Amino acid sequence: MNVTTVRRFWKKSAAVVLLGVMMTVSACANNEKTPASTSTSTEKEIKVTTTVGMITDIVENVGSTHVKVTGLMNAGVDPHLYKASQGDIKKLDDAQIIFYNGLHLEGKMVEILEKMGKQKPTVAVSDKIDRKALRSGAEMETEYDPHIWFNVKHWMKATEQVRDSLSELDPAHKEDYKNNAAAYLVKLQELDRYATEQIALIPEASRVLVTAHDAFGYFGDAYHIQVKGLQGISTASEYGSKDVSQLRDFLVEKKVKAVFVESSVPKKSIEAVIQGAKEKGHQIQIGGELFSDAMGKTGTPEGTYVGMVRHNVDTIVNALK
Ligand SMILES: [Zn+2]
Repeated sequence: MNVTTVRRFWKKSAAVVLLGVMMTVSACANNEKTPASTSTSTEKEIKVTTTVGMITDIVENVGSTHVKVTGLMNAGVDPHLYKASQGDIKKLDDAQIIFYNGLHLEGKMVEILEKMGKQKPTVAVSDKIDRKALRSGAEMETEYDPHIWFNVKHWMKATEQVRDSLSELDPAHKEDYKNNAAAYLVKLQELDRYATEQIALIPEASRVLVTAHDAFGYFGDAYHIQVKGLQGISTASEYGSKDVSQLRDFLVEKKVKAVFVESSVPKKSIEAVIQGAKEKGHQIQIGGELFSDAMGKTGTPEGTYVGMVRHNVDTIVNALK
């Protein structure tokens, strides 16, 4: 069993256990001859399907008890390379509304998302962000850098998008969506402040963030740290020996102490750079694992957007300070 199969297995087992519990509960209820009319859950939840975990997290926070969210991409999954399975297409078909990142993050799902857009609200959470605030440039494979969640202020805009789209679909609960979003936005505001304060603790000369792929551009711009990735904006492009040697020379010249691996990108690419620097007499540590395009496992602190960003900030500061 590979990691994904194991996770699916546990998910399935958990579902079976849960079903068992639910059956037991309903059996008890039947024994007490409770009339159906006293059931507390008469309202129907809105069925929402999302792509990456960071968006799932927004919808759960803003939608709360009024939504049932199904996220397609779990921990460790790379959205650039992700293709929708038959099961995913059913989850998209079943949804009343779909939220995705857009800006070509879900590069292999463009066609299916366009198709869904003709049938139901299919919303890119990046839509509210001013295009002038987005990173773009000739060196990028896509028009804009899609990793907007790494500037917490952009993710606040994404939260407002989710709030507005849910309110439009389900105006009866507009007030709840507004209040839930406001509470979540306060947390994000605090997170933004935390990132700014913490990154500033790294001495300026050491403020260089080197990762496997170029996911942290917005993070670098927002929190004032220079960012270098071995691969480009998307992991779909191959990196070559020239990229490895260029990055190696940069690390040796700048005397960078630590580089970082990403949970959704294989480690071998960044290890090749470390080995190259070692051959040139410069020792580099792996500063830790960052969550770039996927959150941590559900149930762990890094399994939420706020926890993921805090983990990244703490890991970076501890390694470079
Ligand atoms: Zn990425």
